[in-house]
Formats: sequence, C-alpha cells, structure tokens
Amino acid sequence: MNLILLGPPGAGKGTQAEAITKTRGLVQLSTGDMLRQAVKAGTPVGIEAGAIMEAGGLVPDEVVIKIIAERITAPDCVNGFILDGFPRTLKQAAALDVLLGDQNKKLDAVIELKVDDAALVDRISGRYMCADCGASYHDTNCQPKVAGVCDRCGSTQFVRRADDNAETVRNRLMAYYRETAPLIGYYFAKGKLKTVDGMAPIADVTKQVEGILAGIASP
Ligand code: AMP
Repeated sequence: MNLILLGPPGAGKGTQAEAITKTRGLVQLSTGDMLRQAVKAGTPVGIEAGAIMEAGGLVPDEVVIKIIAERITAPDCVNGFILDGFPRTLKQAAALDVLLGDQNKKLDAVIELKVDDAALVDRISGRYMCADCGASYHDTNCQPKVAGVCDRCGSTQFVRRADDNAETVRNRLMAYYRETAPLIGYYFAKGKLKTVDGMAPIADVTKQVEGILAGIASP
C-alpha cells in the first residue's frame, strides 16, 4: 500500500505516519527528515537545503524528486510506503506519478489532515522530540508520562527543530498555501483524496486513518 499524507506543517503528518508504520508495516518516507539528515551530515544537498529550510522556504523540486526517486526503489519499500512531506508542489506530484508508473506501483490514497489554521502556529511552536529516538511531544498537548523522560526510550534529552519558531512557521504556512494546497484539488480530481479531521485527538485521527486504510483493497 502506498500512501501520501497531506496537510500543512503541524497537521500531524509525522505523528500519523509513525502510527501507520506500526500497524501496517509500511515505511515512512519524510523528505523533511531526509533533508535534516543531509544538513547534519554536511552533504552537498544539505548545504544547498539548509538555508532554505531555516527560512521556511521549499527546497528545489529537482533536489527532493531525486531523493525520493532513489529512496522508493530501496528494498524496504517493496511492501509500501507513506510519503510524509512529499509531494509539496504540483511539479513534484507529476514527477511522482511518473516514478510510480515506471515501477508499476500505484498510489492507494492521499489522506488530507484538515486542521484549523489558527491552531497550527501553537501546535508547531510547542512541539519537541526525543533527541535519541525521535518520539514527538508537545508542551501542552502531549507531554511524556514522566516529566523529562521519553516514554519510548527513557532518554532525558530533547530537541526542538530550528524551523519551529513563529517567524519561520509563518513562511512555511505561506509556502504550504501557495505551493502545496493545490495538491488537494489535484488528488481529488484523480479520485485519490480522503479527508480526516486533524483537529480530533491524536488517537481519534489514527482511527479515522485506519478506517480509510481498511477500506482499501490489498493489491
Ligand atoms: P517537514 O519536516 O516536512 O516540515 O520539512 C521541513 C522543511 O524541509 C520544509 O520547510 C522545506 O524547507 C523542506 N522540505 C521538506 N520536504 C520538501 C519537499 N517535498 N519539497 C521542498 N522542500 C521540502
């Protein structure tokens, strides 16, 4: 099963992708994570992408399309994948259609996480992750069960993304509405779009997503 999670920054794409990987055995492909790794490693892609990401802009289509083209042919993608943060432009969506067609793969669904714009800045500026395993938390909505200790791995080290600050968030939202929101119409027209209420509690959103996946026939 091959899926896309679509929604503005802070909609919960990463959280839901993580939940689906556990229940469905799919691989989560986050271009944001891949780019952050490239920045950390100081690769040529990372050097090109770093400043753009810090400003909240979009990395050039050619760069991310190349990354995804290589990644979806890896053996771990054979049972399917969840694209989290890709495609983000119509050009990327068209390139994905070609990539999937070339590999005789199909897109099963595009799940849109619908959220109130007003909630996004708060959601993003409050979020942080475990520095060791990457588990996600939020200052008010989702704290670890024991304060300062990661529920998943027990680490006491946490980090915030450099681009999760109010000014960058506004640029990221602008990029979303200018470049990415048209994909909702693109996938609706292709009959692939499913929409869930991304304002519901995390577990309820996961149930809605699972309901959609249950309705998709296995290949
Ligand atoms: P994310 O982790 O998905 O919020 O992505 C973080 C940042 O990485 C974005 O604000 C963009 O600068 C960049 N990025 C991630 N995915 C893409 C993409 N598909 N196209 C262009 N830029 C991307």
